[in-house]
Amino acid sequence: MSANDSLFIVIGILMLLFGLGWGMAGGPLGLSRSASLHWMGFCLSCAGAGGVELLVPLMPPIVESGLRNFFIVLAFMLMRRGALSFLGLPLQQSEHALLLATVVMAPVAEATGLLPAALRSAAMAAVLCWLALASSTACAGRMRREFGWIAAGVVAGPMFGAAALFAWRTNWALNISTHHLIFPSSNSIEPALLVALFTLAVIFNLALCYMVVMRLVRRLRHLASRDPLTNLLNRRTTMEALHAEHLRLRRGGEGCVVLSIDVDHFKRINDMYGHAAGDRALCLLAGVLEGSLRETDVLGRMGGEEFLLLLRMSDQAGAMLVAQRIQCTLASQPVTDANPPLHLTVSIGMVVLPQGTTYPVDSWLLRADAALYRAKALGRDRVEVSVLAEGAVAGSTPWKPSLSPVHT
Ligand code: GH3
Ligand code: MG
Ligand code: MG
Repeated sequence: MSANDSLFIVIGILMLLFGLGWGMAGGPLGLSRSASLHWMGFCLSCAGAGGVELLVPLMPPIVESGLRNFFIVLAFMLMRRGALSFLGLPLQQSEHALLLATVVMAPVAEATGLLPAALRSAAMAAVLCWLALASSTACAGRMRREFGWIAAGVVAGPMFGAAALFAWRTNWALNISTHHLIFPSSNSIEPALLVALFTLAVIFNLALCYMVVMRLVRRLRHLASRDPLTNLLNRRTTMEALHAEHLRLRRGGEGCVVLSIDVDHFKRINDMYGHAAGDRALCLLAGVLEGSLRETDVLGRMGGEEFLLLLRMSDQAGAMLVAQRIQCTLASQPVTDANPPLHLTVSIGMVVLPQGTTYPVDSWLLRADAALYRAKALGRDRVEVSVLAEGAVAGSTPWKPSLSPVHT
């Protein structure tokens, strides 16, 4: 067995292992079935191209080069389709069918003397160049939007490198008519090109792994930071935002306001209309609250029917307007189709934190809770205010929305 044969066996085994990995990723790891099957096919096709090298002595050159080209083009096509499927882009069915037909017909045309070998070789390299370039641009655009420039570079860079390699190969095939294969057979002394191709295949696999891991990490971050029912920030992430705001205030940042919001008599909605209706009401409230935010504000679900709104760079007057808007919107939007219509009302405990406040976050929440309980005790559907200022005597200011509330 020659050194080249050993190399192709090692490459083949490596590709089979990668293929096995992608196949398994489609099941237990939850990777999309379509992407994992395509990438498994990509690796198996690469292994197939390596396998052809081992069978060189048994085949006529035209069959050997035709088979090798077929496997290489199939591999790139499957890699691209897997990436498109993973990124949620159209699979370009007709384009791929056309390219595959070209790969199958080209050796036939060469064998029947219709196509010169050099042109066939250039056409095959051009097909591969197109596939690599198209994969590169599709992945770059989508990855940049999802994960930023660096991730886009990591994934699209090797594909672009492959496109450059095949472009060079197209040019080479057009210029040197005596070389009639995309990649020379083992008996021509150019194993470096074939090794470069397989090295690219390994790099592609790593880039695809990177893409999958990025998606996984983002999903985990989302799951760890969001409330599954309303998709608002969960308690932990909301608390992190409050602590970050505390640091900003201590450094002399502009004041802010915290609103603790609790639905009034929510248990009755569950009891009367069922838990599912209660869930829908919570989602509606989440939508109303989100609609009242500016980009810099933070909204989280602290648990049950309690929400927290952090209005950055705000003051009591501005926060009052937000609270009023929330109450007015809820008064105008029924939460069920019941007759008479059912409206949610909320009680709000507001803590105003002027510039330079150094009180810890715990005391913000205690004050907000106290104000909220006051709002409940004073009849619900209202806002109670507490000002937490350095050296100031903390007091409370009751407030009632001007619109007459609709009681449930
Ligand atoms: P109050 O005006 O004093 O706040 O009365 P309330 O009924 O809103 O408060 P209470 O604490 O007595 O009840 C809260 C209810 O919220 C009880 C619980 O079943 C319900 N709840 C908590 N989380 C969820 C949820 O995710 N979905 C639904 N449907 N109900 C929830
Ligand atoms: Mg409540
Ligand atoms: Mg509550």
